[in-house]
Amino acid sequence: MNSPISRRINIAIDGPAGAGKSTVARLVAGALHYIYIDTGAMYRALTLRALEAGLTADDIERVSLLAERLDISLLPGPEGQRVFADGEDVGSRIRSLVVNRNVSHFAKIERVRSRMAALQRTMAQQKGVVMDGRDIGTHVLPDAELKIFLTASSRVRAERRYSELGENPGVTLEQLERDIAQRDRIDQEREIAPLLRASDARLVDSSGRTAEQVADEIVQWGLAIARTILAEEK
Ligand code: C5P
Repeated sequence: MNSPISRRINIAIDGPAGAGKSTVARLVAGALHYIYIDTGAMYRALTLRALEAGLTADDIERVSLLAERLDISLLPGPEGQRVFADGEDVGSRIRSLVVNRNVSHFAKIERVRSRMAALQRTMAQQKGVVMDGRDIGTHVLPDAELKIFLTASSRVRAERRYSELGENPGVTLEQLERDIAQRDRIDQEREIAPLLRASDARLVDSSGRTAEQVADEIVQWGLAIARTILAEEK
């Protein structure tokens, strides 16, 4: 029981869109047998439901009520995490262009953020989670034992998101780069829990590195921290 792998910690990975957070977080979680939690998927699921209901981000009261009532769950699946909104698998629809372009506006709403943060804290209570997002190290899990701020150049980030859109992207790489820059700006400038590097987060640039290399570095840091905690607890 004294192996560092048995001493579970929480790992927060924040950073801008397309930095590789979800791929890296999934690999880290797999290596440590931790649970991966994609908090962006939660904001996306809410955005999808709000748009389907004909709401805009200006309908603050109705969007807040929707967020407070919506049952969002994340479950592991064969091809990564599956996302359910009120029991329906919405995984394939939350990555659309229309959700991409709207999600940051819905994510500014105070009651949306407090509802998501409360759900996320509950998910992390038992430790052993790798959670990726924008405000995890600063706001949701300020006590996470390991915090990473993952970034990459804006072109590399746009190229990654472009390749995720498949054969008919419906947008040019340049347009996507502009969309991402715009989303980052909204995320950084919002009043509540903006995208920010926590003062105690390790800065990692993933440009020119594979997700495996970055994940391996994070796993080693995580194990070293778990080892130190174990030694202190003796
Ligand atoms: O990570 P992903 O790009 O899927 O996140 C989509 C959007 O959700 C972000 O651009 C941001 O507006 C919002 N988000 C957030 N806080 C988080 C995770 C995502 O505001 N912790």
